[in-house]
Amino acid sequence: MKNILRSWTGNSAQQADGATSVSVIRSDDVSKRLELLDDFEQAGISWLWATDADARLVYLSSNAAENLQKPLDELLTKPLVELFETDPDSPGGSSARPLNFQLTARNKLVDQTVRLTVGRSKHEGRQTWWSLSGTPKFDKAGQFLGYRGSAKDITVEYERQLEDSRLAEFDSLTGLANRHRMNKRLESILASYKSTNRSCALMMLDLDRFKQVNDTFGHPVGDELLKQVAKRLQRVVGHRGEVGRLGGDEFQIILPDIDDRGKLGELASKIIQMVSQPYVIEDKRATIGTSVGIAISPYDGVHKDDLIHNSDLSLYASKNGGRGQFRFYSVDLKDEAEERRIIEEDLRVALAEDKLELHYQPIVRTDDNMVVVFEALMRWTHPERGPIGPNVFIPIAEESDLILQLGEWALNRACKDALAWPSSVRVAVNVSAAQFAHSEFAETVTQALEASGLEAGRLELELTESVFMGDSETVEETFSLLKKLGIRLALDDFGTGYSSLSYLRSAPFDKLKVDRSFVDSCTLKDQNSDKIIAAIIGLSEALGMEVIVEGVEAFDQLDVVKSKGARYIQGWIYSKALTQSAIVERMKSGDFRIEPDGPERHRGERRSVFRRIGVIHDDHRYDALLRDLSKTGARIEGLLGVAVGTDLVLDLGGGQLVVCTVNRTHDSTFAVEFETPLVSDGAGGLCTRHRASPYALAAAGMKIEPGPNGKSSNVVLLNPPRTKPQFMEVAVGKMHAG
Ligand code: C2E
Ligand code: CA
Ligand code: CA
Repeated sequence: MKNILRSWTGNSAQQADGATSVSVIRSDDVSKRLELLDDFEQAGISWLWATDADARLVYLSSNAAENLQKPLDELLTKPLVELFETDPDSPGGSSARPLNFQLTARNKLVDQTVRLTVGRSKHEGRQTWWSLSGTPKFDKAGQFLGYRGSAKDITVEYERQLEDSRLAEFDSLTGLANRHRMNKRLESILASYKSTNRSCALMMLDLDRFKQVNDTFGHPVGDELLKQVAKRLQRVVGHRGEVGRLGGDEFQIILPDIDDRGKLGELASKIIQMVSQPYVIEDKRATIGTSVGIAISPYDGVHKDDLIHNSDLSLYASKNGGRGQFRFYSVDLKDEAEERRIIEEDLRVALAEDKLELHYQPIVRTDDNMVVVFEALMRWTHPERGPIGPNVFIPIAEESDLILQLGEWALNRACKDALAWPSSVRVAVNVSAAQFAHSEFAETVTQALEASGLEAGRLELELTESVFMGDSETVEETFSLLKKLGIRLALDDFGTGYSSLSYLRSAPFDKLKVDRSFVDSCTLKDQNSDKIIAAIIGLSEALGMEVIVEGVEAFDQLDVVKSKGARYIQGWIYSKALTQSAIVERMKSGDFRIEPDGPERHRGERRSVFRRIGVIHDDHRYDALLRDLSKTGARIEGLLGVAVGTDLVLDLGGGQLVVCTVNRTHDSTFAVEFETPLVSDGAGGLCTRHRASPYALAAAGMKIEPGPNGKSSNVVLLNPPRTKPQFMEVAVGKMHAG
């Protein structure tokens, strides 16, 4: 303040202090006071303004008009508010009341921030910010006269403040919202959606093998990769939601108003596919993947923390499930980690005690139905749990070094077994990405060949696209070592996940296996699977590769696939995997030819299940046993008296209600067709697109009650039934479990 006074009077400190004669400006000396005011205005520290009772500008410092680049005459008599624009993105937030409101209420203005556009038009102009202070003036009779006030340009400070708050909310590397902002957004969305009963999905993403890229290529490349990931994510998500980076290689997506698990699954798959396409950074090529966990409010949590926790749990499960996958949250996930630990332990024991087996599924040449290759598939019968599929235990083994031992065991066993077959028949062994990435892998293969004495040309390795993830130098090195050995390489599951054609160009594959999912749907009219199969076959042959079509089960599929040019087929229509002794037995009878044999028509895949569910009919709820499940229907056991044509609601747990119609019955078993098909749950299972919300259930006289120890919850009817039950529950023993 002292300095301001000095600059007003033009006197220096010494003069003021040392002066003997001081001419003091007296408060009744009007002309001197005006002069003082002039000096004050000229100094440009602050400008003065005044309005009349109608809030029209009647005075403004001339240099304020200069700052605005407008003639003073043009500004005077204009309503004060017209000089300014409302400012929605002020750091003060929406809590600052609008100027107009303050003026009308005749409030005192204290450092009110307002935005102006300086220059010709709004579009060409430059944005500046003023801070406005002012006091309402009244005459002796209490009549409002107008405002008197001051203003100053605070653009520089304001923009710095804006930048600071932007930094506090956004990740400086990718420009995405940071954890802080995502938390705030989620909290406010959930709070406002709660009362309106709207849903909001939360996706949690974690990059697979990002660490390897970072370690191999260095942090600058890692940073660039994260930026590109951010761009891809934003492109896929678009306006459907907000993408944020929580830190490291963790991303999060808030998707308001989506609870359709079909759509969410499609989006998650698309995200996984987009993120997994190779990146080129400073002429280096890197490939990563991503896993996705999804939780949906209100079903999986109403509060921010619960929803985040549950989407984290599902992310964890999807990483464990073999990476490059998505998973929806379900209550069962809580036990999954423990379950996996037990399976891993038991698997170690099984390997040590030589309890694992290899079975061999034929790959047949369609010209003459001759077996040309046997693919080795691992089999394990758990002492208590019965058979456990490799789809379950291989991903668990992949989480630790156990996969290396399993893989080595399989290679050795397969090479030995193949020696007992005719020399025209090759053996194919599946190799996990983790195994392939191991520096000793080529050596392990060499030793398996030497130990067995199998000719290298009879060994094929089946690899999936995930071998390209991570360090591409080691991958290339291994490829060339393997090719030198003279073994053959097949690209497995082509068309799923990554399916980048660049892999085909960059690696020395001899053959390609079209993923089973295309065959599954190749007889359906509305899908393009048959065309895709034809395209893959055409492309591979152009590149000089053999093509195998996997998973052919029925004659209608065989016809389609053959008509599209398939020359090699693997599928149940020829044979399931056989034991070595069964093969040796059949070999005795001469050449190995298999005639196709199977159903005429392919029916949607049915999975055998053994699960208690609820059947709701009228105002009754019955307990029954789900025996098999497909996208479009189910077979249910345990109710007598169910007539064909009856409409039912199945309660599959966790609010999953399915409207269906009975289409076949047999004793206490009946089959139903669903009104709307189920969708993939990302983990090889099926789920409903939508779940009944707790609110909707309450309105229908039902509620969801957790099962024993918080497990899969069931719907219970709140009101006592008014009608007599029409069906009879019959006990079905565990004997049928298969
Ligand atoms: P994959 O390599 O794609 O093997 C083909 C799978 O499809 C096998 O499942 C096979 O039984 C099944 N399949 C073949 N034809 C048909 C058909 O017509 N219809 C149907 N529905 N399925 C058919 P499986 O034996 O359960 O193996 C699952 C996966 O586990 C394999 O998929 C492979 O990725 C992995 N796996 C199996 N054995 C090994 C192994 O020794 N090492 C490694 N790393 N992975 C293995
Ligand atoms: Ca395979
Ligand atoms: Ca396959």
